[in-house]
Amino acid sequence: MVNRMLVGLFAAALTVGAAWAQGAGYIARSLHQPVPGGVAVLSLGSGATAPVVHYEGAQVMVVKDSDGSWVAVLGIDLKARPGRHEAQVKEGPNLRQLAFDVGHKEYASQHIKLKNQAHVTPAPEQLKRYEREYAEQMAAYGSFRESGPSNVLLDAPVKGRTSSPFGLRRFFNGQERNPHSGLDFAVPKGTPVHVPANGVVTIVGDYFFNGRTVFVDHGQGFITMYCHLDEILVRKGQELKRGDVLGKVGATGRATGPHLHWNVSLNGNRVDPAIFLKGK
Ligand code: ZN
Repeated sequence: MVNRMLVGLFAAALTVGAAWAQGAGYIARSLHQPVPGGVAVLSLGSGATAPVVHYEGAQVMVVKDSDGSWVAVLGIDLKARPGRHEAQVKEGPNLRQLAFDVGHKEYASQHIKLKNQAHVTPAPEQLKRYEREYAEQMAAYGSFRESGPSNVLLDAPVKGRTSSPFGLRRFFNGQERNPHSGLDFAVPKGTPVHVPANGVVTIVGDYFFNGRTVFVDHGQGFITMYCHLDEILVRKGQELKRGDVLGKVGATGRATGPHLHWNVSLNGNRVDPAIFLKGK
């Protein structure tokens, strides 16, 4: 009786894990952290052609893992509810649902004092500017190019210590604003910022909150953003190679001092950049 129960439990555990763990390759082992603001790596088998995967209306990155199987590398919204989620997998004429579980994650809180009150509560004309800039940036995050990224584990864009982590709940002068959408590096003004994978520059902007900003599209919905730059050394449309310098660290926009704010986005969702750092 006890034995039968144990066998039953073991089989159930295998079923849940099988969606990704079956012969998991390097990408699955390195990136699979299915929590809000994290990444789910879903195994899709080793068919001749790559399946097409959608999640919440957006196309998802599909690449080959080191074990030869196709995997979906799916970004999970920071506001996602823990529990069962579903992706849609299309293989030729066949469409199927692929379920995966999103776990819980608690993120810390931080209180920040800003001297520029306009950066806490923007005036109406500044809000208009922000809305325009926001739409432009959302469009850049929504880009999906068929060509795959040169690498999915990334080099740190600057050498130096990280400060504010991704997901931090932030209170500016006592008022709660959006949680921290990226990872900060506390490095001096002028520090060169390197591109962590090959890509195309899709935005060179000067934004109200983000300051001087560069977006790089690495392909398959994998997008990175670099903000508060002092200087930008690339232009829109430019093709970059891994390691190229795109600009220099500064404190432009809503920044209390020089630092690099770095976002990583998958299928339109900002995810924790620390997940992608090699040798973390
Ligand atoms: Zn930041």
